[in-house]
Amino acid sequence: MINIAIDGPAGAGKSTIAKAVAKSLKIIYLDTGAMYRATAYFALQNNIDVKDEQAVAKMFENFNMDIVYEDGAQQILVNGINTTPYLREHYMSKAASDISALPVVRYKMVDLQREFAKTHDVVLDGRDIGTFVLPDANCKFFMTATPEERANRRFKELQEKGQDVDYDTLLKDIIQRDYNDSHREVAPLKQADDALLLDTTNMTIEEVIAAVKKVVEEKVSAPSEAAKNAPQNEDANKEKDDKPGELKAFGKASSEVPEKTLKRIKTYYQPQKSFVLYRFLRVILRPLQCILWPTKVINKENAFKIDGGLYLCNHYTTFDSLIPIFTMFKKEAHILAKYELFFNPLAGSILYKMGAIPVRRGEADTDSVKAVFRVLKADKKLLMYPEGTRNREGTQDMAELKTGAARFAIKMKKPIVPMVYYKPTKTCHKNYLYVGEPFTLEEFYGAKTSEEYHAATEVIRQHFDEARAGVNAYVESLHKKKSKADKTSEKEDK
Ligand code: C5P
Repeated sequence: MINIAIDGPAGAGKSTIAKAVAKSLKIIYLDTGAMYRATAYFALQNNIDVKDEQAVAKMFENFNMDIVYEDGAQQILVNGINTTPYLREHYMSKAASDISALPVVRYKMVDLQREFAKTHDVVLDGRDIGTFVLPDANCKFFMTATPEERANRRFKELQEKGQDVDYDTLLKDIIQRDYNDSHREVAPLKQADDALLLDTTNMTIEEVIAAVKKVVEEKVSAPSEAAKNAPQNEDANKEKDDKPGELKAFGKASSEVPEKTLKRIKTYYQPQKSFVLYRFLRVILRPLQCILWPTKVINKENAFKIDGGLYLCNHYTTFDSLIPIFTMFKKEAHILAKYELFFNPLAGSILYKMGAIPVRRGEADTDSVKAVFRVLKADKKLLMYPEGTRNREGTQDMAELKTGAARFAIKMKKPIVPMVYYKPTKTCHKNYLYVGEPFTLEEFYGAKTSEEYHAATEVIRQHFDEARAGVNAYVESLHKKKSKADKTSEKEDK
């Protein structure tokens, strides 16, 4: 599939360019902004506050979005009604920006966009396509222009449509939307590491189209950056593997981080070899864990049937990510931790010494990919949460699994151990960590396409389902034993 991502702030010219590129490649253009606008439109029509996440989540219980094309033009139907004619009204921009900040909305739209991109050759424009929606897109662009120039463009566009708007209001709105879009918690607007930056302030549309088309033509048939870095031939990659990659500035968040900090973090991509602090902290904190989160490990021996590889676990409470470390891995284990956590020198150095690898989430972070490869190549233990982040639903039923774990296991030909953490609903009851049988994804070795990685991820999911059934059966049998014992003692009392 061809997936081209064009991100950038409002009014940077993304849609004009995306349409032109799609036309010249004879593929589809998906305007993701319109999806947020349609969602906001539907909410406003139903008197739902676009900032109220609970109300919007409830609205989604009866919400169906269809994207269809009429004479090549995208139409968005919500519950069968075509919302397209109403989406470009000026007031809709603000409502779309507000509703798009709600995690419940983002996850729903992102799922639809990923599904769409899986089945179509498509150019998508938006805010988070290259960083979050499709980190493996073939080509990524980040298009921008000064706020004044963007306001000017919108002003002319709206004037041509006969809409009466004031330039200063437009400029103020654009600045406000830029702020909202780049400061929201989930998938904020930022340039992907591997996106080409295009400042269109002083470029004509023709110049931008030409620049984009040139890159697209060069890249669409070439392998993606992540695939290029994958160790298909370990020797050829040896030199590259031995030193961390260049850390490029990636959008506002990191450009605000001092150069010194970025340099320090760069060293953290060489996974730690001495684990003195890990063992020390583990011994000190273990009693606390036994009191706060007493956990029984079931089938612990499964974890040690392999020399090294991926240990995958569900993650749905704040501290469960530490349970496998406390209960099983006495000597060392590497975990992936949010890049931002390493900004703090003390926390960063502790995390590093504990074996953590920084990961820039929502991006094709080749530095952490290489660090993971080094760990796996050395037959070490890598602890991962295949949902990508903590499951906010707070249940053991896992959300959609990301394909990252399958990619690592396949590329490095390493086994996987599935682990299910089970937390009883009542407090003070023992938690369980169920360790499933190790397995490999051997049938996928050599896989390259995203379809194959998804199929491999489905296999991982099946192993999780089995492990979950295992822990449920274990807990059930304990309950049965207990109620039998209670009944017997009741009888004896009588
Ligand atoms: O691009 P457009 O102006 O139509 O987008 C409307 C709003 O939808 C944006 O201000 C932004 O808040 C949101 N949006 C988003 N992610 C996208 C596309 C749009 O958050 N991928």
